[in-house]
Amino acid sequence: MKKRILTGDRTTGKLHLGHFIGSLQNRVKLQDEYDTLILLADVQALTTHFSNPQLINASIYDVAIDNLSVGLNPEKVTFVQQSQVSAIAELTVFYSMLVSVNSLRHNPTIKTEAKQYGYDDLTYGFLGYPVSQAADITFCNADLVPVGDDQLPHMEQARKIVRRFNDLYGETIKVPKELLSDTPRLPGIDGNSKMGKSLGNAIYLSDDKDTVIAKIKSALTDKNRIAISDQGNPDICTVSLYHNAFNCEEYPNICDMCRKAKIGCVACKKALYTKLNAILNPFRERRAYYEHHKSEVRDIIVSGTNRANAIGLDTMLKVKESMKISI
Ligand code: ATP
Ligand code: MG
Repeated sequence: MKKRILTGDRTTGKLHLGHFIGSLQNRVKLQDEYDTLILLADVQALTTHFSNPQLINASIYDVAIDNLSVGLNPEKVTFVQQSQVSAIAELTVFYSMLVSVNSLRHNPTIKTEAKQYGYDDLTYGFLGYPVSQAADITFCNADLVPVGDDQLPHMEQARKIVRRFNDLYGETIKVPKELLSDTPRLPGIDGNSKMGKSLGNAIYLSDDKDTVIAKIKSALTDKNRIAISDQGNPDICTVSLYHNAFNCEEYPNICDMCRKAKIGCVACKKALYTKLNAILNPFRERRAYYEHHKSEVRDIIVSGTNRANAIGLDTMLKVKESMKISI
């Protein structure tokens, strides 16, 4: 039997290059080797966007189409709408007994995101979302979770919950492992350490050619390099970091030329947006297909979610047996 991948994205907007390089690329690479489940995380979206149900609903299609556009094959991959899988909700309740509030409060990603959203008094749902995420990963007994590095504290939390569960009730759930890519955190075009869909600093997979060009032209470079004859420092330049992520064959040469003032920022940016548009072109073609076949996308999500519910039912029988929840 194939090992299993569970990963996914919050349905809080369209996906961007950070998602692609941090997680989606690995999903595509591994889709033959692993039984892959992609979660359209609409419950986790509620933790910060509960007052915007329209956005969450529209984003279910956006996120599914983004994943399909990069080359995930719906014949092989299972797309799952999180809110429709009852096992995830049930497992979240059981797991919540095994996690201390303090450990959630000290979770570094929770702290960063609370600051980002300006939360002072956290809701129970927001503070507890790593518990719900542990349920996402384990309702299907996933082995591997391709993620960006902001997810590492949540993966550690998930492992702790699973180990505690297995220690208390007997070996029932697999201990999951993360898979980081070579670029586990892509910065935003504004130089922020993370490109984020809620941060307004992203290049979207759905951006057209001219938008990509305009965004790269506005991207932050080495501020100290004013004239073209000034030597640049690629280590503090967002454009150079993008060359490293998306144009790795030419990256060493571009860095060398930048340090010796042999290439200016305009030419360097042009090389980058040309490369990015070449990567995005096949995605744009697939996207156009699915945008014209939305009912096909709906069927993919509905049948995937049905499969997930069958898997979840089986897991919950085992979980309840281990916990002696029966009459
Ligand atoms: P939001 O701001 O709404 O939380 P997000 O951009 O953080 O959106 P998520 O849906 O939370 O996106 O994350 C989905 C996956 O993409 C996660 O595995 C996350 O680590 C990864 N990811 C998101 N942004 C980046 C990035 N800039 N670089 C690498 N991986 C990323
Ligand atoms: Mg996020």
